[in-house]
Amino acid sequence: MKRALVVGAGIVGAACAERLARDGFVVSVVDPRPVGSVATGAGMGHLLVMDDPPAEFALTLRSRILWDELAPTLSPSVDHAACGTLWVAADEEELAEAERKRARLAAAGVSAELLDSAGLVRLEPNLRAGLLGGLRLAEDGIVYPPAAAQWFLERAGATGERHVRSASVASVESGRATLADGRVLEADVIVLAAGLETRALVRGLPLRARKGHLVITDRHPGFCSHEIVELGYVKNAHGAALESVACNVLARPNGQVLVGSSRQFDVDDPAIDPRMLARVVARATEFLPGLARLKAIRAWTGLRAATPDGLPVIGPLPGASGVFVAAGHEGLGITASTGTAELVADLASGRRGALDPHPYRVERFAEVGHA
Ligand SMILES: Cc1cc2nc3c(=O)[nH]c(=O)nc-3n(C[C@H](O)[C@H](O)[C@H](O)COP(=O)(O)OP(=O)(O)OC[C@H]3O[C@@H](n4cnc5c(N)ncnc54)[C@H](O)[C@@H]3O)c2cc1C
Repeated sequence: MKRALVVGAGIVGAACAERLARDGFVVSVVDPRPVGSVATGAGMGHLLVMDDPPAEFALTLRSRILWDELAPTLSPSVDHAACGTLWVAADEEELAEAERKRARLAAAGVSAELLDSAGLVRLEPNLRAGLLGGLRLAEDGIVYPPAAAQWFLERAGATGERHVRSASVASVESGRATLADGRVLEADVIVLAAGLETRALVRGLPLRARKGHLVITDRHPGFCSHEIVELGYVKNAHGAALESVACNVLARPNGQVLVGSSRQFDVDDPAIDPRMLARVVARATEFLPGLARLKAIRAWTGLRAATPDGLPVIGPLPGASGVFVAAGHEGLGITASTGTAELVADLASGRRGALDPHPYRVERFAEVGHA
């Protein structure tokens, strides 16, 4: 019987557990905190295809296909819905970017619909007048991330104390992980999916915190039906600015409106910064003025784990046979959890899979040493 040990019960670790279990591994998971309670619990839950750069496109597209395959089997608590993404253009430059996105997507066989100003307002009447147009990806979706992580673990048979240990891993080497209390767990395959804290387990792994703020409102069914994202979001997400804000709004199936988001590099303090929160709300209200009438009930922050080139780190850890890294997904880890898990399982089984592993490999960062 092959044994796998997954370090971290966020959505990435949970998805890896589920995929490895399908390959016949007996999987156990170690995490000192509740399932999905760190970055996963802070995420919006948008499942989206990002069409650039090519390796992000390949991973998010493959991941969305895998989410669609899982969709009929997901439990109702996962709140999966195919709401679609509406990319909104506020100026001519963004409208040109919408057309470039459509062309890149079409070249890969992904359908997306260009909209003019009137088409936008027809789909989302709460958008302000005067926006120039946009791009609709009808097949993008949403999930409730902590419930999705729990669902993956249940499918992996990795629930209950025997399988999810409430413990912290202090170090790993080929075939064994040492817990903070000194106990040793042995496994044929070990997956390091500890989110931002993977940097404490892998020497030299260049992960940086990128803090985000979100606000959620009371239930206002019908306020919007798509995930509405300004096209400027792409510049913010991929840019190197220390601080940025972009409109990113979605309605959960229960009618609550989730309003984001911000990005701040190297801010590890989880406290809500009222100045950033005000910027997030002001930016979203510029696009959706009616937000000002809704009642906000809660705000929170989360830390994304960012890499220097913006791509996650997925692959074998050099010098530690059977140890794999699956971390650094920045703002796309909910989406990319399924594709990441498939890639980890393919690599662990020595299979050639749907994704080329090269762009995500650990050794692209020369400074990375052993666990
Ligand atoms: C504001 C915000 C909005 C976002 N919105 C989206 C979105 O809409 N769509 C999307 O795709 N992504 C989104 N993301 C990104 C997404 O949330 C993350 O990429 C994803 O949750 C990362 O999952 P993870 O499993 O790698 O990390 P985590 O969820 O952080 O899980 C890591 C786990 O490892 C555990 N751990 C740490 N150290 C150890 C150790 N030594 N031993 C054992 N366990 C350990 C932790 O306790 C934790 O439970 C968003 C992020 C933020 C902050």
